Amino acid sequence: MAKESYLGRLAPSPTGFLHLGHARTFWVAVTRASAAGGRLLLRNDNLDATRFRLDFVDAMLEDLRWLGFVWDEPVVTQSERLPLYRAALAQLHAAGLIFPCHRSRRDVLDAVAAPHEGGADDEPVYPPHFRPPADAPLPPLGDVINCNWRFRVPDGETLAFTDGHFGPQQAVCGRDFGDFLVWRKDDVPSYQLSCAVDDAMLGITEVVRGADLIRSTFRQLLLIRALGHAARAYCHCPLMLDDQGERLAKRHDALSLRTLRSQGVTPSELIARFSP
Ligand code: GLU
Repeated sequence: MAKESYLGRLAPSPTGFLHLGHARTFWVAVTRASAAGGRLLLRNDNLDATRFRLDFVDAMLEDLRWLGFVWDEPVVTQSERLPLYRAALAQLHAAGLIFPCHRSRRDVLDAVAAPHEGGADDEPVYPPHFRPPADAPLPPLGDVINCNWRFRVPDGETLAFTDGHFGPQQAVCGRDFGDFLVWRKDDVPSYQLSCAVDDAMLGITEVVRGADLIRSTFRQLLLIRALGHAARAYCHCPLMLDDQGERLAKRHDALSLRTLRSQGVTPSELIARFSP
């Protein structure tokens, strides 16, 4: 197939049971891939060792198959790709684009004046006075132990992309988001780095995911550019809300695909709820 043909991905995290919101986002991904005559990969985002569980991996595969979704085998498992993420970190280090950060999340939260509008899940803007000077020599990667690494964002630069659902989007580096984590002190890549590396290196042409990740898209666009790859296309799906107007989360057992299925809901009934 031609190199430029559509390649999408489903990227669930095995940290809980998938719910209706995931099903809808993945259904949009499946529908867009099929409309483009393209293919899909399934990426198992299993790097968060504190929350990851093997039984959730089996459950998510089973739920996605139950929905009738099809992807190319083998499944891409992030924990098997650590050398690629390390190589990307080394590339960013060699380019002087990252710095070691000894500050805790608490230090950062205490130092920011106003609550961050990106929402509770998003990183607050990293306080500029915590940053080492741009010309400070960088310690070698191997000399820094038990420490986070952050990407130094190009302050004041406006980034833009056209979202497949929400249309034109833009953000200003250093104002809408700050220096962000690329490597964690427990020696695993951050979500931003692993996702950017995978989307670029697997040749994903369009990323379809929830609207809660729009701000992360700007971070990932910076990483993808810094690593020498071309930008991907993005399509973010509006988040599903519960009856109280709250965003669905993995704690919403009542709306987990498992529960709905045990109540006799069929895949086609679910999918009928998503179709416009
Ligand atoms: N695994 C991530 C999550 O479940 C999704 C990441 C993505 O689609 O980029 O939030």
